[in-house]
Amino acid sequence: MCDSRPPPADGDDIAACAPQSASAVASSVDGDAVAIDTVAPGEGSGITTLPSGEPEAWHGRHPRREFKARGSQVIRCEACRLPRLNCLCPYQVTAESRIKFWLITHPLEHYKPTNTGRLISDVLAGTEVFSWYRVEPDPRLLALLEDERYQPFIIFPDDQPDYADRVVDVNAIAGVGADVATHTASGEARIPVFILLDGTWRQARRIFRKSPYLDGLPVLPLHTQRLTRYHLRKPASEAHLCTAEVAAELLRQAGEENAASVLDDYFDAFNDCYRASRIHYVLEPTAPMRRLLARRDATAGES
Ligand SMILES: [Zn+2]
Repeated sequence: MCDSRPPPADGDDIAACAPQSASAVASSVDGDAVAIDTVAPGEGSGITTLPSGEPEAWHGRHPRREFKARGSQVIRCEACRLPRLNCLCPYQVTAESRIKFWLITHPLEHYKPTNTGRLISDVLAGTEVFSWYRVEPDPRLLALLEDERYQPFIIFPDDQPDYADRVVDVNAIAGVGADVATHTASGEARIPVFILLDGTWRQARRIFRKSPYLDGLPVLPLHTQRLTRYHLRKPASEAHLCTAEVAAELLRQAGEENAASVLDDYFDAFNDCYRASRIHYVLEPTAPMRRLLARRDATAGES
């Protein structure tokens, strides 16, 4: 959400549009070439409504129903969607966290194999993923926002004055220094929820600004010195973290060190598997992968 993610230099990253139906995903070695038809009513045609700051590769191409990329014959694992050459599945482990994540994912992001929001769902049970449509908010999300068992925070930078009164810091999760209700009317502890806006920086800003149902939520910015380790798209700045990195860092700052480490290792494994497959290289397990395998073995031993 905090990164500005241009497509790769070869310009393969492009969406094709058809109104409001399921998606077709063209697999490629690059994995970025996806045909997505993601336009909800009122959104216009996806290509033409892309923000003006999107890279050149997005512009001047006519929407197509399906986009077949160079390398579209690559064989993918159906479970993790990575090229089978370096499948991610052996490294999938889960972790416990008292914090939940709800992702509001921009439709153009949803089906990209390089999307990292889905890594959060793999690691943390109970993660919810919603597609964002400006004129049709997901009723399940609206219901969850009304559910007093949860205390949602929207993760967003605190760089604009007009919502400064909503900005809190990570201590607010524990009810410190902010007017946030940590317990329900009947006295039960509410479950903290981090809402991540999963898309490019411009997409995330659009979701933040155009979703009135998020207007009442406390805004929790992520302040970190961490630089991105994401290899699969070139960030505008090393300080722009991808969605999984944002989640890992938030978990760490909120005291969920174990979940943060697992998610970080899984993210690194994803990154390395994907990058190796792009150059048709079969990877030996890296240090993060070995930690995940050990964790998986330990979990299997317990059951
Ligand atoms: Zn797999």
